[in-house]
Amino acid sequence: MASDLNFLVSVVVPAYNEQQGIAQAVQTISLVLGGTGMDWEIIVVDDGSRDNTYLAALELCKAEPRIRVMALSRNFGKESAMLAGLEHAGGDAVIIIDADLQHPPDLIPQMLEKWRQGADIVHAVKRNRNGDSLPKRSMVYLMNKMISELGGIDVENASDFKLLDREVVDIIVRRLPERQRFLRGLTSWIGFSESYLYFDVEERQAGESKWSFFSLLKLSVTALTSFTTLPLQIVTLLGVLTMILGFFVAADALFSFFNGQAVSGFATTIICLLLIGSFIMISLGVIGAYIARIYEEVKGRPAYLVKASSGFDKRPLRRQATE
Ligand code: UDP
Ligand code: MG
Repeated sequence: MASDLNFLVSVVVPAYNEQQGIAQAVQTISLVLGGTGMDWEIIVVDDGSRDNTYLAALELCKAEPRIRVMALSRNFGKESAMLAGLEHAGGDAVIIIDADLQHPPDLIPQMLEKWRQGADIVHAVKRNRNGDSLPKRSMVYLMNKMISELGGIDVENASDFKLLDREVVDIIVRRLPERQRFLRGLTSWIGFSESYLYFDVEERQAGESKWSFFSLLKLSVTALTSFTTLPLQIVTLLGVLTMILGFFVAADALFSFFNGQAVSGFATTIICLLLIGSFIMISLGVIGAYIARIYEEVKGRPAYLVKASSGFDKRPLRRQATE
């Protein structure tokens, strides 16, 4: 059996405008990793930050050869930043963790323990979200509930804080070609042996949260369109319902006509028109969301572009050929 020292653990840290907190986060993570007795590397992915996140990470990279940093050419979003990290990680196990210490690095040894016991994916699940604001919490709750119910994948309380075995990373990178990803869903979809750990969301250490109503909405649409076509079927159902309603209204109209009171029913007509109109608009929107998804995928543009990187050449040679 190989000794622990032969295992390489990669930790991927997506960072967008995190210049204030990145040094503390990376130092805390490296301290924890140092205590595991395993070989390690930390990959900071600067997701097109507008502040000096890249320079701050570069300083860390110069001081410690096991820290690597890459800068994306612009802000591609956390999903793309995580993918960039996964594609460049050389570890036998890869851990994804936020740059703001809201995901406690202290959990890493337990994740590694589960991995050594045979888990291919270790999900860190949020026990509470006290670190998040109330409106955000409620909205995340609603979205997750909808994605879980409709998409058939359990993402309630899921977080992006995860450990993935090399085999799983290779599958995500090579076998799942979709560009717009929802990693939380994909890691549940893959299967393999999953294991769960629970954590409390800490307060953000420095800087501010990047999530907005619209970014969450966008992620939810991506999640829904990538895991279920149920909304399209609901459109058909709506059509059938309106048709049944139509039969009743038509019967009523004919009845009135033969009784010689055909002109009444203006309100009914307007209500029907508005109802049917809104059903059609919503349906077009739903179909549009799927067409947009197809269009984005068909264009085949890369999920991210790398502008600069540092520290990757310092990796032991046997680990270089992962791409
Ligand atoms: N992040 C990123 N790209 C983005 C937005 C966020 O890489 O476009 C990173 C961010 O730096 C942090 C993590 O994703 O490490 C989580 O972001 P944030 O803390 O803003 O989200 P929250 O914890 O509030 O859900
Ligand atoms: Mg955060």
